[in-house]
Amino acid sequence: MKRNLLKTALSLFILLIGQTTTFAQSPKFRVLALYSTNVESDHVDFAMQAMKFYSRFAAEKGFAFDTTSRWEDLNNEKLKNYQVVVWLNEFPHNQAQRSAFEKFMANGGAWLGFHVSGYNDKYTKWPWFVSFLGATFYNNNWPPLPAKMIVDDNTHPATKRLPKTYTAPICEWYGWKPNPRDNKDIRVLMTLSPENYPLGKKDIITGGDIPVVWTNTKYKMIYMNMGHGDKNFDSDVQNMMFEDAIIWLGDKK
Ligand code: ZN
Repeated sequence: MKRNLLKTALSLFILLIGQTTTFAQSPKFRVLALYSTNVESDHVDFAMQAMKFYSRFAAEKGFAFDTTSRWEDLNNEKLKNYQVVVWLNEFPHNQAQRSAFEKFMANGGAWLGFHVSGYNDKYTKWPWFVSFLGATFYNNNWPPLPAKMIVDDNTHPATKRLPKTYTAPICEWYGWKPNPRDNKDIRVLMTLSPENYPLGKKDIITGGDIPVVWTNTKYKMIYMNMGHGDKNFDSDVQNMMFEDAIIWLGDKK
């Protein structure tokens, strides 16, 4: 009897401690960032810097930022623990990972994609993703260059602290066909300024309307074309968007 009482008291104690600890450390939301190391070295550089940037920011803001290079972690069981998925420098290539991601988004999950994570062409064969992103890769500039941005919409939570224009650090910029702006579900937040053209030396973007950051209003998602090389976090202005975007995506409202 006495022993049982002790056991009960002990269990209660552990339960209380457990709850207190959980409460004190409970993150506001949980992010899973996926990356690859066997891709273009400029894309690996970006992923490494992004993980540093967001890990520090997560500690400051009280959300969890987990990272993995195991793309098989894109599965229903694992994703149950997360509100936001980030693709830093790659996208899923097999059906199991793609299906798990589609389900995650259909169930109200949030996504942040950088640069090559939005890449799709006739070989990637993932129609769901084409409609989710609202765009297909068309062209790019080379070498990577800084570029002047027009912030089309700074009423969105992700771009609310940005000025109307700023110069984004060195990156490789992608053009899209079809243009995401022609898709009724897409809200374009930022566009390459026409002042940049011709942009590039070896590969030249000669002109055109090229959105750089946008969201598909049918989902909680943001795509940003930034993400090539090791200069992307050099702009305090642009960093505000990197910060505000993930906070908006993690917001449970
Ligand atoms: Zn690139």
